[in-house]
Amino acid sequence: MYPNRFDYYQANTLSELFDLMSENGDGMVEYLAGGHSLIPMMKTGLAAPDVLIDLKNIDELRGIEQNDTTTCIGAMECYADISKSPIVKTNCPVLAEAVGLVGDIQVRNRGTLGGNLAHNDPASDPPAAILASQATLHVQGPNGKRIIQQDDFFTGLYETSLEEDEILTKIEVKNIGEGVGAYLKKPSPSSGYAMIGTAVVLHTKNGTIEDARVAVIGAVDHATRLNGVEDALIGSPATHESAITAAEHALEGIEDYMVMEDLQASAEYREHLIKVHAKRATMAAIDNLKN
Ligand SMILES: Cc1cc2nc3c(=O)[nH]c(=O)nc-3n(C[C@H](O)[C@H](O)[C@H](O)COP(=O)(O)OP(=O)(O)OC[C@H]3O[C@@H](n4cnc5c(N)ncnc54)[C@H](O)[C@@H]3O)c2cc1C
Repeated sequence: MYPNRFDYYQANTLSELFDLMSENGDGMVEYLAGGHSLIPMMKTGLAAPDVLIDLKNIDELRGIEQNDTTTCIGAMECYADISKSPIVKTNCPVLAEAVGLVGDIQVRNRGTLGGNLAHNDPASDPPAAILASQATLHVQGPNGKRIIQQDDFFTGLYETSLEEDEILTKIEVKNIGEGVGAYLKKPSPSSGYAMIGTAVVLHTKNGTIEDARVAVIGAVDHATRLNGVEDALIGSPATHESAITAAEHALEGIEDYMVMEDLQASAEYREHLIKVHAKRATMAAIDNLKN
């Protein structure tokens, strides 16, 4: 299929972008990042923007920078560069792992972290890593900048707390420090998208888990934390036995009707995977502690 007719612009700076948006205020605007979700949607008629603004020349949306306690990643950085970045691998290993498992090499060379998080497909890998790692999402609109904490960003199926005229500019991820983590994905054999993906970040002291963040994608309509597992892990010894016990709480707060069901997997199978993955991803994080 062919997309509807649209006007195409390239913005060279954020200020040019906002000028273009106000000039085209009446029409539906989409931003072209990696195009790996947007272009297929336009070709199938699921998206029909009047105006497409290409973000590729905006330097303000690029860069990977390490600070004392955080790492800042520009929204237009692609998965391949993020997964290979020594800064990200050291400070945000769970995110590096998750973006390294997105699609295939072509997708990883074009798809961007900003586009992925803004699109918020329920089966996208990076949102789980963002929730588990903790991050501040920096956004900008015509009226200025604001920040959104990770737990407030993903709000529903393909929905985020971004306003229509706002753009995600950078993702500031908390450095893991002495913590450990893991990302575990069960890919669909047909699409490669996750049936379930689980991210875990643990901080321990003298063999006891002091802080645990566990998040899952592919389970319900948007990335969500497994609070029952986290609560059970905190205060427990950092052992496989604790992971097994905690995983029994994986479905707490997730009602049956919330669990996704599609051609890839029934809701019942997904519920099973949520528990199994909570256990295995936590074990993998604990194994990283021992290394
Ligand atoms: C074959 C294939 C396999 C894939 N497999 C996976 C997978 O395994 N895991 C996975 O997570 N994803 C997968 N994807 C999706 C891929 O990760 C996309 O890149 C991602 O969903 C969107 O990022 P993008 O940069 O391509 O954004 P685009 O497609 O360009 O844009 C997507 C949406 O986000 C908006 N947008 C883009 N950038 C911004 C911004 N900075 N601020 C605000 N809004 C913005 C656009 O307006 C648009 O609505 C796959 C895609 C393909 C084609």
